[in-house]
Amino acid sequence: MHASSHEVPVAGAALDALFQQQRRAFRRVPYPSANERRAHLDALHRLLTENIDAIAAAIDADFGHRSSHETKLLELFPSIQGVRHAKRDVATWMRPEHKSVSAWFLPGRAKVVKQPLGVIGIIAPWNYPLYLAIGPLTSALAAGNRAMIKISELSPVFGRLLAELMRKYFSPDHVAVVNGDVDVAQAFAGLPFDHLLFTGSTAVGRQVMRAAAANLTPVTLELGGKSPAIIAPDFPIDVAAQRVIFGKCLNAGQTCLSPDYVLLPETQLPAFIAAAKKEVQRLYPNIPQNPDYSAIINDRHYARLQGYLDDACANGAEVIALGDSAPSARKLAPTIVMRVDHTMRLLQEEIFGPILPVLTYRELPEALAYVVDHPRPLALYYFDDNADRVDRLLQQTIAGGVTVNDTIFHIAQDELPFGGVGPSGMGHYHGPEGFNALSKRKGVFWQSRWNTIPLLKPPYGKRVGRLLAFMLK
Ligand code: NAD
Repeated sequence: MHASSHEVPVAGAALDALFQQQRRAFRRVPYPSANERRAHLDALHRLLTENIDAIAAAIDADFGHRSSHETKLLELFPSIQGVRHAKRDVATWMRPEHKSVSAWFLPGRAKVVKQPLGVIGIIAPWNYPLYLAIGPLTSALAAGNRAMIKISELSPVFGRLLAELMRKYFSPDHVAVVNGDVDVAQAFAGLPFDHLLFTGSTAVGRQVMRAAAANLTPVTLELGGKSPAIIAPDFPIDVAAQRVIFGKCLNAGQTCLSPDYVLLPETQLPAFIAAAKKEVQRLYPNIPQNPDYSAIINDRHYARLQGYLDDACANGAEVIALGDSAPSARKLAPTIVMRVDHTMRLLQEEIFGPILPVLTYRELPEALAYVVDHPRPLALYYFDDNADRVDRLLQQTIAGGVTVNDTIFHIAQDELPFGGVGPSGMGHYHGPEGFNALSKRKGVFWQSRWNTIPLLKPPYGKRVGRLLAFMLK
């Protein structure tokens, strides 16, 4: 790989010049054909499939240790699947939608045409730096746009690689990667994009929306929050424990969709803990050396997580480590915390690590009330075989997305809208939703030569009066 001397320029005027270059290029090609868009998606597909090992190695370097299987399973696979899906369906998504016309306007016709917006800004976090850049980019390209992507300052090795790969597969006036610190991210968010898609924390999401407001740039905010997992009274507890543990341990809990905490029947607590312990030992024996278990991204985050545990202990919680940690390698073992209460940071902040507070309930409605009383989460997981109760839960709680009887997997369904609600985000993307979010859906009315409008024109007399009396019924 080349050093960063060929880096796309980042700060101030250079960033603005790059934006203007993309905007001019967009004006030259305001509506790429379906074939052109498929060719762009093909280039993205090649970028991914021809550089799998280099991508996994770069992300591994940024994490200190990121399981290469996790990178392939959770970043490359969904990215490639999303590109393939968009390639297959983009021509269908592009088709105008014909709409009905009220009797007064017949025989005019109405349709919605979907038009590229222009230059899309994408800001990605460090936890899944590939997928959270490529997913939005797939929507942007399918919708016929140009895009600039800001990679997190915590993913510098990956950021340099992606910048270099993009230059190889795309011209910078089509897709460009921008790297740099938070000041660069701030300048980036201040560009007058035609749409800005941000993935990251709720706190930074607020700042991004403020910056975008100055330009009236519409935003899609993919944020975080505390996603609950509720286990219904008669659901097999070992199955629930295994599935919660799998979702929690992916990327060592540094997943926006990670089950943040569990709500389970009081009587099932010992069985849940035993099953969770067994599952961690089966999936990740010897955590310090285990290649399948990822590291915490940096010392600051490791200290933050350790701080949650210390705070919980100091306030009377019971902490059960489900394996050995290796702080020098930033490997934090999955840890269950019991006897938690709302004064603890563990129940206040998004955990974003392999710590699982377990709360108990006597009656299921208490669990629902807890969820409804707290900020609307990005995901909700509900384990229950009773379809009526599942329906009631879906009606009574609001969350970005739901997986029933498992965790995480609603994100992998390309036809489902993906996005949070309230403090966990706004707007949706993936598949057709992403295409629509990054298109202008333009309403077009096509007047016919002969129509009723002349009957309604001045001078208003009895005729118009009679017609109006009829129209206003
Ligand atoms: P973060 O908010 O700290 O940073 C995200 C990105 O914003 C980075 O690229 C950073 O450079 C940039 N940034 C920082 N300050 C900025 C500013 N003032 N203006 C503009 N950009 C700025 O988040 P993070 O630590 O990288 O990621 C973790 C968070 O992201 C968690 O809260 C997690 O839940 C959330 N997340 C959400 C999703 C989702 O799809 N909803 C996915 C992954 C992560």
